[in-house]
Amino acid sequence: MSAPERPRPKFPLQLDGLGGVPKKGPLLRPQQPLRQAAVDSARSVRPSGLGLDSADVRQRMVTKLQAAGLRDELVMAALAKVPRHLFVDTALATQAYEDTSLPIGLGQTISKPSVVGRMIELLMNGPGARTRRTLGHTLEIGTGCGYQAAVLAQLSRQLMSIERLKPLHDKARELLAPLRLNNIRLVYGDGMRGHPPNAPYDSIIAAAGGEALPDAWLAQLAVGGRLVAPVHDASGRRQVLVVVDRTEEAYERSVHEAVNFVPLKSGTD
Ligand code: SAH
Repeated sequence: MSAPERPRPKFPLQLDGLGGVPKKGPLLRPQQPLRQAAVDSARSVRPSGLGLDSADVRQRMVTKLQAAGLRDELVMAALAKVPRHLFVDTALATQAYEDTSLPIGLGQTISKPSVVGRMIELLMNGPGARTRRTLGHTLEIGTGCGYQAAVLAQLSRQLMSIERLKPLHDKARELLAPLRLNNIRLVYGDGMRGHPPNAPYDSIIAAAGGEALPDAWLAQLAVGGRLVAPVHDASGRRQVLVVVDRTEEAYERSVHEAVNFVPLKSGTD
């Protein structure tokens, strides 16, 4: 016996429960949203709809950092300019102006704004930078998503920033492009070797912590230049910020507060 035939739908379809097509009321105009979509996609900055694009939000973050002890006005002004929410995943954007590190993929993190500010302040207090009020020719090891690079670029004549993980190097290039900072050069490679083609550097800053300072960094630091990096202390259990000033005669080293950075690794991925 054949299966009972299903009733065939009648055309035009009756929209049961929806009351059919309203005869009166507002006419839907799909052209309008399409035009708006074109405007949105033409914007260089992702629309957030959360008020995160405003200068006030960034300034509030800076005011908190000042209350916590950061002082250098040029560093504060640079921090107040960079839209940090554009450097993190959209799902984390609402936390972007809190003083916290956040994941950026591949087990890496965007550094806390207070630590970024503190390290750059230490660089700005170096003998050369203090008199010139610029970091000069700068090398950053560990580009990550590019946030700190955007801050450094505003205080440097030229910034070389090196990253050993290709997907992060590519992501940083994409995220930095809309900011049009034309003095940044992103390099894919092993930053433990520094970046000899553009050495020496007036300022060197590392965003990853190793057992010791690589010799290459010290060799590539200009006379009168300053280096700031997280390094493991003698116990090997914690990292501290180390500052090195190169003079005509020597390298002068001082040790500062404890920090917690991702490990400095050799080679590329
Ligand atoms: N500067 C970033 C922080 C990135 S986290 C910010 O704006 O917040 C530290 C980065 O250092 C990671 O992306 C990691 O891959 C990178 N890194 C670790 N060892 C490295 C090396 N030898 N050379 C270059 N980058 C390195």
